[in-house]
Amino acid sequence: MKPLIWLALDGVGHPQDAPPDSPWNAELPTLRPFVEAGLALDASLGVGGLPQSATGQTCWLTGRNAVTAMNGHYGPHPGPTLQRLLDADALPVRLVQQGARLALLNSYPPGYFEAQAQAAARGRNRSGCFPYSFVRAGLPLNPPGIPLLPATLGLNYRSPWLPQDTVGVWQRHGEALAALSDHDLLVFDAWFSDHLGHEGQAPTPPELAAAGRAYLLRLDALLNGLLQAGAAVVISSDHGNFEDLSVKGHTLARVPFAASGVPLGQPGDVVQGGQSIRGWFGL
Ligand SMILES: [Zn+2]
Repeated sequence: MKPLIWLALDGVGHPQDAPPDSPWNAELPTLRPFVEAGLALDASLGVGGLPQSATGQTCWLTGRNAVTAMNGHYGPHPGPTLQRLLDADALPVRLVQQGARLALLNSYPPGYFEAQAQAAARGRNRSGCFPYSFVRAGLPLNPPGIPLLPATLGLNYRSPWLPQDTVGVWQRHGEALAALSDHDLLVFDAWFSDHLGHEGQAPTPPELAAAGRAYLLRLDALLNGLLQAGAAVVISSDHGNFEDLSVKGHTLARVPFAASGVPLGQPGDVVQGGQSIRGWFGL
């Protein structure tokens, strides 16, 4: 069996809701048609204000309306209320209970664990919903024996975010991950798009526009490697931001929900999208 790979994008609005100079308007021969063949979902859930990561990702991970639970959009990290939802119902938690084999593909540097420990010492959580859920499921971060992915997709973390590798590396990452037949679900928490989106300003600095294109080019290559090697893939996003690099904050853009090898169903928003994913596993 090939694994299902979930590319959980952070802060990437759908190309249909993006401005003409969006990074979506690059040559993306695999990614763009893949996303266009999928759905554009509402992330606002009828609640005012801009959608945020903790509530949006909890919707995806639980299939429950985390915005209602919080009386609004909340982020970036889940606090006590969202943690309770994730503890009970996050997809990794439920799948481990069923005996499924899953892993979080992110590679976390030592500084990540130092920052977590410092926050914990102050009684705070600085972990995003995806690593939080995997840890609560009893699964390790940086799991051994798996090719791990930097969330920067190979770009330098700091401006001007220059690529540190070639696009071909990402094609080969995709092929290697598709071969992990001893796993049911592999998840990539691709949050660097939201980080780049928060650098947005008008007019968009050329180096930021270039970084946005380089990011999606690597995502395109990763997706191509996965599909060529026969993996089932799903792409989601929690809210808009990166698709419009002329503004600093999140946007009201609809978000992509696209897949190959699994049925999307007919969701209209990110809660229903999360329910579709659960359905693939009989939840
Ligand atoms: Zn953000």
